[in-house]
Amino acid sequence: MKSNYLRHPLLKFRGNNGSTGTIEDLKVLFHKKLECLAIHQFNWIHQTEQFRTLKQNLTEAEAVLHIDFSENYACKMSTEVQAYHFGGSRKQATIHTAVLYTVHGTKSYTTLSDSLRHDERAVWAHLEPILKEIRATYPQIMTLHVISDGPVTQYRNKANFYLLSTVAFLSGFKHVSWNYSEKSHGKGAPDGIGGAVKRDANLYVRRGGELQTPLDLYEMLTKKSGSTITHYWVNEESIQKYDELVPEKLTAVKGTLKIHQVLSSQAAQISHREVSCFCQHAEMKTCLCYQPVKVDLRDTTDNSLSTPEPPKKQPPQDLSGKFVIVTYDELPYVGQVLQVVGEENLSEQPHTTLS
Ligand SMILES: [Zn+2]
Repeated sequence: MKSNYLRHPLLKFRGNNGSTGTIEDLKVLFHKKLECLAIHQFNWIHQTEQFRTLKQNLTEAEAVLHIDFSENYACKMSTEVQAYHFGGSRKQATIHTAVLYTVHGTKSYTTLSDSLRHDERAVWAHLEPILKEIRATYPQIMTLHVISDGPVTQYRNKANFYLLSTVAFLSGFKHVSWNYSEKSHGKGAPDGIGGAVKRDANLYVRRGGELQTPLDLYEMLTKKSGSTITHYWVNEESIQKYDELVPEKLTAVKGTLKIHQVLSSQAAQISHREVSCFCQHAEMKTCLCYQPVKVDLRDTTDNSLSTPEPPKKQPPQDLSGKFVIVTYDELPYVGQVLQVVGEENLSEQPHTTLS
């Protein structure tokens, strides 16, 4: 009898959150939730497997950088003054962590800052010293694969897509892939670095040391002997430099939340798809698996992004130090303006694309 009632499609029920509906509504909702869960589970298994295979089959020309923000560190003193106890005036340190994988082995990094910014521009300031080190140590590395989680405020947004398709080339890389791991499946390798750094800091304070500022923390960590982690300091100015780099107008990228891989081999040009694929990584090619979607991030309605016309009567804008994208032979190139001579711009390190 009871089961007959339940089979009735119009039977109303009340959910534990107070909402009401019919059994049919419930069925639809259940299937939707199940589908979400299945996609999430599929993505997690797929991404994890892709990352594992990539790391095992790296070529001489590739580097994988797995990154994450560690929770901010609140600076401490062994004999904490009252103000520290009662006024929330403890200085916070931003700790960004990275694990580098190459054919030569694994290396751990933290980049520390007193800037509390965790946005995509700050991310690139935190990546800069590591990317420079990679290029200086292993000049044969041409492809950079980044792995991160996917918060839209940090790593998964069009400004980051723009930065990855410009800054990485200025650092000397020719190909970039940015890969998003699926959320809520435990912490990855970078989390261990953040934990180790905080343990060192707490031990130092317990033994009578004082860490009043983020810079104190950085200096303590760099002086510590026997550490296998490399530390870099990131100041506010180096973050602001990236603010100037991102144009005000960028093409909107549809379905950003679903994106799990962004690829670029050309300035401001990206391909994205819902899962990562590295099946042609050794040949440095973007495969066509999982329907990659191409996007030109330069908003064509914004003239400042195409080759700037020489200003007619206004005084010329000072472009020195600025990053520009110029179109030459119908291909976009990225460069940094060294000096403005009359109407000609000399740009440094023009990125030549591989077609
Ligand atoms: Zn593929």
